[in-house]
Amino acid sequence: MVGELSLEQFLSRYNTEEACADYLFQMKWPEGFVCTRCSHRQYYMTITRRLPLYECARCRYQASLTVGTVMEGSHTALQKWFHAIFLVSQPSPGISATALKKEINVTYKTAWLMLHKIRRAMSEADASVQLSGIVQVHDACYGRPYNPTHFTHAEEHPLLVGVNLNEQKEPTYIKMKLLVEIPREKRINRQEKENFADRYIQSEESQVEFITERLKPRKLKKGYPIFTIAQRWINETFHGIGGRHLQAYLDEFCYRLNRLLQKAPLFGSLIQCCASSKAVSYRTIVGRRKRFKPKQLADLPI
Ligand SMILES: [Zn+2]
Repeated sequence: MVGELSLEQFLSRYNTEEACADYLFQMKWPEGFVCTRCSHRQYYMTITRRLPLYECARCRYQASLTVGTVMEGSHTALQKWFHAIFLVSQPSPGISATALKKEINVTYKTAWLMLHKIRRAMSEADASVQLSGIVQVHDACYGRPYNPTHFTHAEEHPLLVGVNLNEQKEPTYIKMKLLVEIPREKRINRQEKENFADRYIQSEESQVEFITERLKPRKLKKGYPIFTIAQRWINETFHGIGGRHLQAYLDEFCYRLNRLLQKAPLFGSLIQCCASSKAVSYRTIVGRRKRFKPKQLADLPI
């Protein structure tokens, strides 16, 4: 496990493609090479490509270090990927695609896609954790300034914020999920809350409190303090986000905050999660032509 690194420590540790490849090798085969197909432990290494290929000495199966990681299929150097993951893992304020493009010298599209792949790995890591014990669920609404005539304006996105609390009522783990269906009435309805509880809260021995408020966006935006921080972070770091990818940014916020709450090293956790999370394609990320449905993220395996 890699702990927190300063920029100098990071640059000296991962300053070559070989150093990054060594890290991925350790992640993939911590006990030494094992063939995925036949479990044989001897291999031949081919270095004719940009990255080494590992060929099983018995069955000739070839394995690449980036298969099964967010870097799979990417033509971007491992060093740039590691640098991007390092920058994303800095405690504050996060990094936008415009800033990443300049830092690691790639196109805007590449930077944007890398960040979304990293976010997807974060979403998957937190999807495997359910809230349990003392849980509060708060109404919230991300969006433009309050409009008294429309609650469900296209730029207003109601969501639920689930908070695990310890005995001292301090938050220990957070989930923020956009509603699956936008309610017609001016409140987040019971069905949405039940859906949230079913998906994200352990049903046994959890003590769940729903903090119900009438959906007056002005009030909600001043509502639960952690959501207010999330909204400000999204607006200041990324200059506001539309509904299509909003869930991914909320997941990034929660991933970062959850590691801080649990005092886990952010870079170490993130590089490990990126090295063990399968890449999603550009088409998968941008291919949705209709309004982004959070259901698609909510359907990640729990
Ligand atoms: Zn084999």
